[in-house]
Amino acid sequence: MTETAQHHRIIIIGSGPAGLTAAIYNARADLPPFVIEGIQPGGQLTITTEVENYPGFPEGVMGPQLMDQFRAQAERFGTQFLTDAVSSVDLSKRPFTINVGKKVFTSDIVIISTGASARLLGLESESKLMGHGVSACATCDGWFFREKEIIVIGGGDTACEEAHFLTKFASKVTIVHRRDELRASKIMQKYVLDNPKIEMKWFRTVTDFIASPQGMLEAVMLKDPRTGEEERFACDGAFIGIGHTPNTSLFTGQVEMDENNYIITAPDSTKTNIPGVFACGDVQDHTYRQAITAAGSGCMAAIEAERLLISEKD
Ligand code: NDP
Repeated sequence: MTETAQHHRIIIIGSGPAGLTAAIYNARADLPPFVIEGIQPGGQLTITTEVENYPGFPEGVMGPQLMDQFRAQAERFGTQFLTDAVSSVDLSKRPFTINVGKKVFTSDIVIISTGASARLLGLESESKLMGHGVSACATCDGWFFREKEIIVIGGGDTACEEAHFLTKFASKVTIVHRRDELRASKIMQKYVLDNPKIEMKWFRTVTDFIASPQGMLEAVMLKDPRTGEEERFACDGAFIGIGHTPNTSLFTGQVEMDENNYIITAPDSTKTNIPGVFACGDVQDHTYRQAITAAGSGCMAAIEAERLLISEKD
């Protein structure tokens, strides 16, 4: 049997920089929101190590610590949290309905900030070495690979953009791609193919990440899918650039999305096609994907939500 619905004015789904910034702003506007933070709260920053590009931390800050601070700041002003995962939503009428297992919540406003997940290869050694030489974010971790030899896996715009960016730091970047043709846009292809610091390894897939005795990445095993032949390839870093998946399956068929399942928001706004439903952070941004831009759009969502509630009271 389901419980009686508990009503909130604002429900925020997701607890990365976007959701928690929205929570801080709404709470400080005397609209303390209810944040359903997921089973692994804090978003993608909780799987990174040191964050050196978030303003205000000249010495850098550990990703999980930064997210703890966001959360504490939201809590200080009255945000309530539920550490659980949303099972389904009904956004077809207001108040909107959000089901979390047998618990039912209704809300006048829903702010979607469920983020995106970097696609990974799914190897056990990959998760073991994540943050120890293996990364899925060049902007976050490139700095740690000054004068090092690194590989980038993938052949799309993400991989090419990351490879191009990483040549600022690395002594050599090798793009490992499973075919002999890049999927990336022509301009990105030109950037990487013309860059003397970038080499291509065509027809290769990574089958294993190998750790040094100190527990840092020291090589990868590469396989030629045509022949099955394997080789050991020494490298200090491996960036996985095989795409991101926005975490939007809960909203399929309810909120307008693009062909890659990112939620579409109005230009310069976090408004979705449903009045009262806002989306912020990586769930609607496949261009920047930074903690700071996610936080900025979380702030926008909170202000837009507040303005809508005020306009409806008049
Ligand atoms: P894409 O899906 O375009 O590319 C993924 C790449 O990874 C492909 O080359 C694919 O190989 C490869 N790949 C996928 N799975 C595996 C696997 N298991 N093992 C090995 N290789 C794998 O993703 P992107 O993130 O690159 O781009 C997504 C969208 O975002 C695109 O529309 C892109 O244009 C856009 N984008 C735009 C940017 C910009 O404008 N600045 C920057 C980044 C992305 P294969 O080609 O063989 O399928």
